[in-house]
This record gives sequence, C-alpha cells and structure tokens, in this order.
Amino acid sequence: MKRIIGTYSDNKEALLLVTAGIHGNEPSGIIAMEKVFSRLKYYQPLIKGTIVGIRGNIGGLKNAKRFLEEDLNRIWTKENILSEKTDTTEKEEMMDILDVIRFFSEKEYTKNYFLDCHTTSAETQPFISVQDVGENDNWAHLFPLPVVRGFSDMVNGCIDHYLSRRGMTGFVSEAGQHNSLSALKNQECLIWLVIEKACGLNFDQIPKLSKYIETFRNSIKEQSTFEIIHRYTLAEGDRFVMEPGFFNFQKIEKGEKLATHNDKEVRSRWDSYIFMPLYQSQGEDGFYIIDRV
Ligand SMILES: [Zn+2]
Repeated sequence: MKRIIGTYSDNKEALLLVTAGIHGNEPSGIIAMEKVFSRLKYYQPLIKGTIVGIRGNIGGLKNAKRFLEEDLNRIWTKENILSEKTDTTEKEEMMDILDVIRFFSEKEYTKNYFLDCHTTSAETQPFISVQDVGENDNWAHLFPLPVVRGFSDMVNGCIDHYLSRRGMTGFVSEAGQHNSLSALKNQECLIWLVIEKACGLNFDQIPKLSKYIETFRNSIKEQSTFEIIHRYTLAEGDRFVMEPGFFNFQKIEKGEKLATHNDKEVRSRWDSYIFMPLYQSQGEDGFYIIDRV
C-alpha cells in the first residue's frame, strides 16, 4: 500500500488534497478515489488544478482496524507536529502524511482545498461535518448534503483541524456505513462534486458522469444545516443502552425515552433531532442533540 493513491494534472490553479482511510476500518474513501483516478486518467478531462489522493492509516488498513496504537484522527496537535515524535505507529504515519501534504502544498497554488473521507459504524444518510473556521462553512454549503457544525470541534487533533490551520479550505465527509455500497457511491459522488467546484471539472467530459451525479443528488433528502446543542457524555464503566431504532437526523420529542443509563431512564428534554446514537459497546458519548440552524 502506497501513501499516494494517485495524482491527476499538474495545473497550478488549485490544489485538492483528498485523504481517505485515516481510520483503517473505513476503506470506502480509498476505493472511491481509485475509481475517480482511473476515470480521470482514462478520459483525461482538462481541469484547473491538481488532485492528490492520500492513503491514511496504512497499518490500520492492512489489519482492517480503526487504528493500531492510537487514533490517527486525534493526534494532529501543534505539539505533536512540532515535536516530530514517532513513539507510536500512528505518529509515524502522521509524519509520513505530513511530508506529502508539505511537498504538494508548498508549491504555489492560487487556492488550497481538502476533503477528508470517513464513514460511520451505524447506517446513516451521508453528511458533511465542518469545522467552522476560515471559509470552510461557506464551502461546505456548496454541496447537496446536510452540514453539521461543531462536531469536529468536540475532539482534538483531527486532521481537518490541521489542514484548516494551514489555511486550506475543506470539510469531513461521513458517507454512510463503513462497508456499505451506498457509502462508496456517496463518497465517490461527493469527490466528483468537490473536484468540479475546486478544479472546474466539467462532468460532460466523462461519459455518463452527469447522470451518475444526478442520481446521487436526487437521493439526498434535503440540504440543511445543523448545530450541536447537547452532548450526552458517559463516564467509564457506565451502563448505557440506547433505545432501538434511532438514526442520525431523526426527529425526537420532549419526554420521549431515548436510552437507559445506569438503570435510569433517559428522556428527551428537547423537541429536536438526534445525532450519532451509540449502538456499539465502545464510546464516550451516548448521543448528541442537534438543532436546525
Ligand atoms: Zn472515521
């Protein structure tokens, strides 16, 4: 497994870095990028920019594990990057990815964009998670997916924070369930749309692409903006069981039973929407409450 999934064009107008597999159990972004590069290379459309696909946690991907020693999406802090410490395999991977990012972004592009591709353990409709700094939020709203603000701010050391600190514009895609075919399609379509907006790709230059993208657009219920208003946190050793049947962006009502936490009922205090309900054994958060902006 090579670090670089592929590159296309060497036009200096825009740089688009696409990172995929930062979590080793989320291969769909990589497969999607491979499909995108093979079509770009075959049909050779003219674009105003350079696209670089970067493989994330190679050790994790080889073992189909989220990570081996520590989460590669929690270590992109200023301190870690300055110290250049490589005491874990993930920090080694980070330093290696940094070399690629620096190599490309130190050339002079007019605009610098990124897309970090992820998927989730539970089934979900695809969405964008955006850190609301610089031009990220405006950029995210150019795409036909629900945009969730503030999720990425609740954790430290994400790669999108680092790329934003570098002055690049972008967001995180959560394309669906890890191994689902729909997540792969969503991921691919979103990548094409980002290439269109960042590098001026005309879809008509690739046969059948416009239609493929149209089907994706039609599959998205609505484009709306959500903000996190509550994070239901758990302590270590807590017993937490979510009521069955909740899914991302589902409407909930005041008084509705959401979960059982240490044998006590958890009822909704909100007429709002639920986000990231916890149905796995591991996790620090039971669920989030989001509201429409
Ligand atoms: Zn992920």
